[in-house]
Amino acid sequence: MTLPTVAIIGAGPAGLTAALELIRNGGYQVVVLEADDIVGGLSRTVNHNGNRIDIGGHRFFSKSDWVMDWWRQMLPPEPAMNGSSPGPAMMVRNRLSRIYFEGNFFAYPLKAGPETARKLGFLRVARMLASYGRARVRPRRPESNLEDFLINRFGRMLYETFFREYTEKVWGVPCRDISPEWGGQRIKGLSVTKAALHALKAPFQRSGGVAQKGTATSLIEQFLYPRLGPGQMWETVADAIRDGGGEIRLRQPVVGIRHDASRVTAVVTRDQESGAEDIVAADHVISTMPVADLLAGFDPLPPEPVREVGAGLRYRDFMTIGLLLRKLRRTAGASPDSAINLVPDNWIYIQDRGVKVGRLQVFNNWSPHMVSDPGTAWIGMEYFCQEGDDLWSSPDADLATLGADELQRIGLADPEDVLDSVVIRMPKAYPAYFGSYDRFSTIRAYTDDISNLYLVGRNGMHRYNNQDHSMLTARFAVEAIVGKGTEKAAIWNVNVDDDYHEEKSA
Ligand SMILES: Cc1cc2nc3c(=O)[nH]c(=O)nc-3n(C[C@H](O)[C@H](O)[C@H](O)COP(=O)(O)OP(=O)(O)OC[C@H]3O[C@@H](n4cnc5c(N)ncnc54)[C@H](O)[C@@H]3O)c2cc1C
Repeated sequence: MTLPTVAIIGAGPAGLTAALELIRNGGYQVVVLEADDIVGGLSRTVNHNGNRIDIGGHRFFSKSDWVMDWWRQMLPPEPAMNGSSPGPAMMVRNRLSRIYFEGNFFAYPLKAGPETARKLGFLRVARMLASYGRARVRPRRPESNLEDFLINRFGRMLYETFFREYTEKVWGVPCRDISPEWGGQRIKGLSVTKAALHALKAPFQRSGGVAQKGTATSLIEQFLYPRLGPGQMWETVADAIRDGGGEIRLRQPVVGIRHDASRVTAVVTRDQESGAEDIVAADHVISTMPVADLLAGFDPLPPEPVREVGAGLRYRDFMTIGLLLRKLRRTAGASPDSAINLVPDNWIYIQDRGVKVGRLQVFNNWSPHMVSDPGTAWIGMEYFCQEGDDLWSSPDADLATLGADELQRIGLADPEDVLDSVVIRMPKAYPAYFGSYDRFSTIRAYTDDISNLYLVGRNGMHRYNNQDHSMLTARFAVEAIVGKGTEKAAIWNVNVDDDYHEEKSA
């Protein structure tokens, strides 16, 4: 008996979760079609000469028990966090991230207190408080863009000092041009009042475990992390899929979606090396590929209004310059015991107008196993750019020089201490909440009507979904396929509120 085929586009967290859930359910032939030569999507780990890079630094935490249990089942937490045993496991990590601003390090999120006031200057703090007070008394209504959203929650001065520069680096457009929805997704539940209450309560609270259900996403202080970075999770999942009889075809970008308006009949792949096209007949299709690319590959093409919204979707691209350093310069917070002057942060936001770098990762602190020689500092300098712009198109050697120069300019390391470098470019890392995004409902209505097509994940739904959201959307798509009565609406409802369905109904 031939089983119905489910074609899954993309081997990132959403695609792989869907594949494994289908295999666990049984009764389907599962084929994952991946454009790249590696699994994990944005949540991959790149191994460069034994030093590992995580694109963006992936914290594993979720308010969904289903996701937390799923992860723990795939990679059990290690018994003791001694960092010595090499097997696959999750470590429990403490988050430390700071903001680098005008030569000083500030806690992230900002902590109200004498230390912060001293670094910022008492007069400036008084003005910030007054500006926050004004925003609370007279909020901007309607809240029609991200600038309104941030000013209403933090006041104009805090916004201009700590949010505007970084956010505009991330998106490459003014905050006024970005939908307030992005704030809702990204800075969910956070405000000055909540951050201050959190700081006051923290010393008196017992840890509620890594899920930290009552905590706003931006304030999460503990998370799980696979010893060898996020890719280790997704490589383990890929192995389980293959062991369960599923197929993962790498270097097979999907270039066409054949359909008859009510159902998809097949997807077309093009082998990256030979250029040969293959037609994969499918009974169901789960897509995590960018919505814009998906619609452009529709055969026949969608109606004009849908095409137009699809073509108008925007993305922001991302680049990490990995620098292996003999040592860092001694800066605030560096452990006195560290021969390489390692700072304690997982990552540092660079709030400095003089440099292009947006954020800096310290991979040693995500997991000591990410670095082949613990006597070196393994740093990721993150740049937000646009595919094809000057930064994106610069030769790798120039980018390594830029990274080293900027590290020197912000006083963290000297170029002569660079031992090795690598540049990783990730297109479409951020689906943008501008462009034609405000008309996305046109696309949703059209694709929802194609009964056997499920849009899931981050770029797959054009939504700022984290791994856990992406996995939950995959879970609901599988439930719909296997006949558990789940509607497509359940997929779209993930990451709309802070809580997920099962918690809500509970
Ligand atoms: C800087 C940064 C930091 C992040 N930090 C965190 C974090 O701390 N915690 C967290 O949980 N999440 C984090 N995320 C989000 C996380 O990376 C995503 O939620 C997750 O990877 C999305 O999974 P996905 O499967 O939907 O998409 P992706 O990871 O984008 O995977 C999609 C896959 O589809 C493939 N593909 C694309 N087009 C085609 C095509 N035409 N044919 C075939 N395959 C195709 C891609 O190659 C890719 O492998 C972060 C993201 C970024 C950019």
